Amino acid sequence: MSPTRVLVLNSGSSSVKYQLLDMRDSSRLAMGLVERIGEETSRLRHTPLGTGGETREWSGPIADHEAALKAVSEELAKDGLGLDSPELAAIGHRVVHGGKSFTEPTVIDDAVLAEIERLIPVAPLHNPANLTGIRTARALRPDLPQVAVFDTAFHTTMPESAARYAIDVKTADEHRIRRYGFHGTSHAYVSRATAELLGKAPEEVNVIVLHLGNGASASAVRGGRCVDTSMGLTPLEGLVMGTRSGDMDPAVIFHLMRVGGMSTDEIDTLLNKKSGLIGLCGDNDMREIRRRVDEGDEEAQLAFDIYIHRLKKYIGAYYAVLGRVDAVAFTAGVGENASPVREAAVAGLEELGLAVDRELNAVRSDEPRLISPARTRVAVAVVPTDEELEIATQTYALVGR
Ligand code: ADP
Repeated sequence: MSPTRVLVLNSGSSSVKYQLLDMRDSSRLAMGLVERIGEETSRLRHTPLGTGGETREWSGPIADHEAALKAVSEELAKDGLGLDSPELAAIGHRVVHGGKSFTEPTVIDDAVLAEIERLIPVAPLHNPANLTGIRTARALRPDLPQVAVFDTAFHTTMPESAARYAIDVKTADEHRIRRYGFHGTSHAYVSRATAELLGKAPEEVNVIVLHLGNGASASAVRGGRCVDTSMGLTPLEGLVMGTRSGDMDPAVIFHLMRVGGMSTDEIDTLLNKKSGLIGLCGDNDMREIRRRVDEGDEEAQLAFDIYIHRLKKYIGAYYAVLGRVDAVAFTAGVGENASPVREAAVAGLEELGLAVDRELNAVRSDEPRLISPARTRVAVAVVPTDEELEIATQTYALVGR
């Protein structure tokens, strides 16, 4: 029998997240995380899922990604699932930036690696770590097909009118400046799952997807194809996020340099790590913010209001971009769990055919579900995202059988 398992790897600069799936039934066999790679206090957390075993934790120095992946393979091997297993069909890698070049999941060879490397200037934080993960996995299993699944790929269908910034064309082209968008694997999965929830084919429906995690982005999806998205050249643009500012006047940056005396790196850190919800109220976890709001904390209330205001602006903008909207889908940590966010984001939009049913909105579930009242024109849905399953599915579709 041909191999049916796919290992999904999401390699960060000091971490590796992984899941092993069996593509016969898309079941998860194991999942885990290696953190603080390169430090004395690295940690591995491994959960076998197929065998019903307990989560195992291990702590100690893990020098680099190679050591991390070997440690992962050893954990997997305890349940007969190691990297050397003949039942492993492929490894699917999450790659953040595929630029304009990669519009689809791609089997990795030396030319593909070189192109991902060439994109480092537009993704300096992410692509180097993704590359390290790929190189390490290839060294351990050179015979195994490895596939890159790009966060940007789903957005490459955007028309030029949405993808181009209104800046000098020559400068933009020279530096490859345009809207690329991110979280594409999630937007693809959720827009498809939303169509399924409505009992329709993806080609038949227009969906606004709101991926609200610690990072957050919105997308407008017409008939299964992305036509606009809120993140841009980098994940900094768009919605208010846990620690990122999202949209603002770009001249704020010149002002901080000229008047505030800040360096480029300081501003980068300010806008990516110390802004958004955490910059506004000191917390980036929506649970904590809601708790404070319920206690009457004004700072938390203002942060929440700014977050919702921006979200509403994007719902309105993408409504106009799409012309006809069949569904608005909430996903990721905040979108799937924070009912007050969903209620507030849609409040007052009845004229647009949008409303949330309080009781349905309060239901907690891991299943895709509708939360709009029965007869509203636009469905409002909660659709849990599953980026690992999507990466595994795309990987297996390319190399399986
Ligand atoms: P990312 O993948 O971007 O790190 P997630 O999609 O896992 O993020 O979302 C994490 C965020 O989800 C947390 O920072 C928190 O704000 C929010 N979150 C998680 N669970 C809940 C919950 N039960 N209620 C409200 N917010 C939640």
